[in-house]
Amino acid sequence: MKIAERVGRVPPYQFAEIDRKKEQAIARGVDVINLGVGDPDQPTPADIVEQACAEIRKPEHHRYPAYEGSARFRRAVAAWYRRRYGVELDPDREVMALIGSKEGIAHAIWAFVDPGDVALLPDPYFPMYVNQTRLAGGEPHFLPLRAEAGYLPRFEEIDRAALSRASLLLLNYPHNPTGAVADLAFFERATAFARAHDLVFVHDSAYAEVTFDGYVAPSPLQVPGAKEFTIDIGSFSKTFNMTGWRVGYAVGSAEALKALGVIKMQTDSGVFTAIQEAAAAALERDWPATPRQMNALYARRRDIMVDGLTRLGWRVERPRGTFYLWVKTPDGMSSADAAAWLLEKAGLIVMPGSAFGAAGEGYIRMALTVGEDRLREAVERIAGL
Ligand SMILES: *Cc1c(COP(=O)(O)O)cnc(C)c1O
Repeated sequence: MKIAERVGRVPPYQFAEIDRKKEQAIARGVDVINLGVGDPDQPTPADIVEQACAEIRKPEHHRYPAYEGSARFRRAVAAWYRRRYGVELDPDREVMALIGSKEGIAHAIWAFVDPGDVALLPDPYFPMYVNQTRLAGGEPHFLPLRAEAGYLPRFEEIDRAALSRASLLLLNYPHNPTGAVADLAFFERATAFARAHDLVFVHDSAYAEVTFDGYVAPSPLQVPGAKEFTIDIGSFSKTFNMTGWRVGYAVGSAEALKALGVIKMQTDSGVFTAIQEAAAAALERDWPATPRQMNALYARRRDIMVDGLTRLGWRVERPRGTFYLWVKTPDGMSSADAAAWLLEKAGLIVMPGSAFGAAGEGYIRMALTVGEDRLREAVERIAGL
């Protein structure tokens, strides 16, 4: 069998070793606490589920969906975007349905990165940004996000040679894995930079509704003129506990969405219309109730864990966004060693920061997607190390 060369550009699965240790621990009867994956533990709100059940019964939804999303879905997203951000969108040209935001980000990379082009990516990153860039034949160029800069990139430090070949800027705030947030002034700088260098700016807003302490995440589309070259990619996954449903949206530049649509039309056939209907209902009837409730829950979990770890002398910031803690490894331990040690000695699964790029070395990521009792238990186990 001849496997395409591009398949080899994706590095081997980084968690194989941790997965093996996890299976062994479970087989030994260890009560494992999984702070590894970022998948909400709470169910999708009942009203959204009920709406989907009713929609599934309608035969008109059993045929191919419109690949760009139903008119109803696109209007609901545009209306919500106005309500949420005060940004006007034309539902026909500036809104597109996605089969989850991951699909949209992947295809956006194919739409804007040619072989030899550079994609400007954050480090630490969501691994698919890098791997899709490589699959498309592009070259990732990393913008290191440093704690002392609030995990925001410094555009003036970007290598000129790489910049001259760049076609795409891809950022994500609130940021997985660090939990860092951006303000509108940052998006003003980012969009001015993208405009000056003729870049498409793709922003991953997966955690825009997972925020705490009064912080409200802005959209880069709130910057006047940004809509010419910016798309904001949103997801229902984290906002409404809908990771399994596979629905998201891309909004912004009509020209960029048209290019994304060409790639999508040759790849998929749109989101199941019944799910688009349920997602539209979530924006119209549920928001902001569920995200508000979830944020109260995540904030309590965050405080249990941050207070507990801090008391034990660990270094961790209290994030204002996402449901992740970005924790410094103790005693200068490597990320991989710290993750293996926590699993072996305390039955805790965490993500080594190095899995998110070179800048993640020296950190581990903990997901707050388990209940308060389990988090207290996790702190107790760490105290006993
Ligand atoms: C969870 C997550 C997504 C959401 O992906 P979906 O495909 O919409 O489920 C996107 N980006 C980041 C950084 C994430 O952590």
